[in-house]
Amino acid sequence: MEFRLALAGNPNCGKTTLFNAVTGSAQYVGNWPGVTVEKKEGRFSKGGMDITLVDLPGIYSLSPYTPEEIVSRKYLTEECPDLIINIVDATNLERNLYLTTQLAELGRPMIIALNMIDRLKKRGKEIDIKRLEDELGIPVCPISAAKEAGIEDLLHRSIHILHDVAHSENEKIEKGFFKNRAEELHDELHRIHDGLNETEDVYFPIVKSFYEWEINSAIEGIEGVICDNPKAKNNLRFSAVKLFEDDFITKDTLKLDKNSQNLVEEILKSVPENENIDRQMMIADSRYKFICRIVNDVESQKKGFEETISDKIDKLLTHRVLAIPMFFLIIFAIFGITFGSFGSMLTDLVDKLINQDFAGFLREALLSVNTKPWAVSLLCDGMLAGVGAVVSFLPQIALLFFFLSILEDSGYMSRAAFIMDGPLRKVGLTGRSFMPMLMGFGCTVPAVLGTRILENERDKKLTVFLIPFMSCSAKMPVYALFISAFFEENKPLIIFTIYVLGILLGILSGFILKKTVLKGEESTFVMELPEYSLPTLKNLFIHVWERLKDFLLKAGTVLLAASVVIWFLQSFDTSLHMTDNPQTSILAAIGILIAPVFAPLGFGNWQSSVALLSGIVAKETVVSTFGILFSAADEATRVLAVQGLFSSPLAAFSFIVFVLLYTPCIAAVAAIHKELGGAKWTVLSILWQIAIAWLVSFLVFNIGGLIL
Ligand code: GDP
Ligand code: MG
Repeated sequence: MEFRLALAGNPNCGKTTLFNAVTGSAQYVGNWPGVTVEKKEGRFSKGGMDITLVDLPGIYSLSPYTPEEIVSRKYLTEECPDLIINIVDATNLERNLYLTTQLAELGRPMIIALNMIDRLKKRGKEIDIKRLEDELGIPVCPISAAKEAGIEDLLHRSIHILHDVAHSENEKIEKGFFKNRAEELHDELHRIHDGLNETEDVYFPIVKSFYEWEINSAIEGIEGVICDNPKAKNNLRFSAVKLFEDDFITKDTLKLDKNSQNLVEEILKSVPENENIDRQMMIADSRYKFICRIVNDVESQKKGFEETISDKIDKLLTHRVLAIPMFFLIIFAIFGITFGSFGSMLTDLVDKLINQDFAGFLREALLSVNTKPWAVSLLCDGMLAGVGAVVSFLPQIALLFFFLSILEDSGYMSRAAFIMDGPLRKVGLTGRSFMPMLMGFGCTVPAVLGTRILENERDKKLTVFLIPFMSCSAKMPVYALFISAFFEENKPLIIFTIYVLGILLGILSGFILKKTVLKGEESTFVMELPEYSLPTLKNLFIHVWERLKDFLLKAGTVLLAASVVIWFLQSFDTSLHMTDNPQTSILAAIGILIAPVFAPLGFGNWQSSVALLSGIVAKETVVSTFGILFSAADEATRVLAVQGLFSSPLAAFSFIVFVLLYTPCIAAVAAIHKELGGAKWTVLSILWQIAIAWLVSFLVFNIGGLIL
C-alpha cells in the first residue's frame, strides 16, 4: 500500500526544492513562478512506508482560472491525497496563508511546512510557531528546503498525522468522512508502527472557521443542506464555501436537486448584502482580515535590521532609467564570453579533437583494412563531417546555457520580465510572455509548449507567433561558422545584432498581428519578484545538462540521418551513379532549381539553397550540409569553403539573417501546431516567417549594398 502526499503552495515557495531533497530526484528548480505546470511524482520510503510525493504546480488560490489552478485543484479535490503538505514561504506569510486557508477547508489531513526559515532569520524576523498552529488549527513545521534543514522532522510529523488520522475516532470519520481510506491506513500503520512512539507535540489538524459570523453561519447552513451529497462529503467546508461564492465548477459537480438549490438560495438571501462587493469578494475579504490578524500576532521583527543586499541590488537593476540598458549590457557580456575568443577557443579544441584527430584516425583505420571507398566516404565525408561540424559547438552551447541559468536561478530573470513588461505591453503582451520567449533562445519547442502558462488565449497565440523570432540555439552553429568566416573582428557585435534584430522583428510582428488578426483586450500582469539568491551548482548542472542531452540526442538521430541523406544526394547523380563532381549531383540539381529565389538576397548559389532547405529538418543541418558539400571535416576548411561561396560579407550577413528568420524546424512546427490548435494558424505562422525572412534579407542586402 502506498501513501500519497501532495505538495501544495504558492509559486516559488520551494516546492520543487523540497521535492528534490526528499525524493533525491533532480527536477529543475526555477526561481520563476510557473516553472511546474504539470504535476510531478516521486517515490521514497520512510520508516517502512512507501510514499508517493506529488509536486503540484504553484498556485495562489483554488479558483479555477489558470492552468496551474486547474491541475492542482483537480488533484486535491478528486484524487484525495492522504496528506497535504502546504509549503508556506515564511518571508511572505500574508500572501501564502491565503492559499492555506483554502487548502484547510478541503478537509484533508494537512501539515504546513514553513519554508525559508534561513532567509527569515537573515532579515531579523521571527515567527511564533506554536501560536500560528493554534490560530490556524494546523500543525506547522519550520524547515529550510534549500539547506535541507527540518525535513526529517517534517516527514516524521507527517507520518504521525497519518497515524493519528487513522486512529482517530472523531466525528469526521464516523460521518464517513475519509472512512475507507482511514481504515486502510490504520491497518497498514499498525503493521509498520516503527519509530512512531507517541510524541506530545504533534498537533492534530482541526477545522477552523476563518470568517465573520454572518458569513460563517450561512456557510454552516449550506453545509447542512449538502452534507449527504456524495460529491460534497469528502470536502464539505470547501464545497459549501464554493457554493457561497457561486462557483460554477462546484455547482456542476454537486448537481443539487431543486429542493436543495432553493434551500441554498434562501440561506444566501439571508446574508447581509453589500452593494460594492460580491460574495466571492466577501469571502476573500473575510479571509484576509483573519490572516492579517494572525500575521500581526505571530510575526515579530528584531531591532537593528535594515535593507538587505538583495534590496540594494534590486534598486539598481530595476532602476527606472538604467534597467533596460543594464539588461542589454548583461546579455551583451554573455555573448562576448560565449562567442568571443573564450568560446571559440573551446570550440576549436573540440573541433580539433573530433574533426581532425579522430576523423584522420578513422579514415586511416578504414583504409588500412581495405574498406570500400564509398563506405569510407559515407562514414567520413557524410556521417562524421555532418555531425562533427555541429558537435564542435557543444562548448559554446553549454556556456550560453550556463550563463542563462545563472540569470534565471539568481532571480534576475523575473526582474527582466518585470522590466520588459513595459516594452511588451506596446505589442499587446505582458511580462508573463517573457519567460516563454526567453526559452525560445534555447529551443522553440519547449518554449512554445511553455505558453500554456498564459491564461489568455490571445496572449498565447501572439506569444507562439513571436517565439520563433527568438534565435534558437540550433542556429548558433550557423552564426558561429559565418562569423569565423567573415566577421572575425567583431564577433560579439554581429551576434548581438542578429539576436536583437530577431527580437525587434518579433516585436514588430506582434504589433502588426495585434492590429490585424489578433485584436483583443490587454490582460493584467501581476508578478512577485523572488529574492535574489546564489544559484546552486547542482541546479546549474541540471539545467545545462538537460540542454546538452537534447542536443546530443539530436546529433545522434536527426542530424545523423540528415547527413546520410545529404551525403547520398551529393554523391550520386540524377541517373544514380556515384559521382565525384558535386556539380552533377542530385543535390546540385535541386539547388539549381531553387537558387533563383535567393539570388536577389545575395546568395544565389545552389549550395546555400540546399543548405537552407536541409535546415528545415533541423537548423544545425545547415552547417552539416556545408561540411558535407566541401568534404570539409575541420573548421578551417569549412571557413575557407564558405568564404569562397559568398561574394561579400554583406551577402553572408544577409544569409544569416535569413537563417535567423525563416521557418522553424519540423519539430518546432509540430509544437506550434499543437499549441495553436489548428492548421490555419500554423500555416499563417510559417508563411509569415518566410515572408519576413525574404523581405528583411532583401532589404539588408540591397540597402546595405547602397550604403557600403
Ligand atoms: P517552487 O516554484 O515552489 O517549485 O519553488 P522552487 O523549489 O523552484 O524554489 C524557488 C526558489 O527558492 C529557488 O531559487 C530555491 O533555491 C529557493 N529556495 C527554496 N527553498 C529555500 C530555502 O529554504 N531557503 C532559501 N534561502 N531559498 C530557498
Ligand atoms: Mg517548482
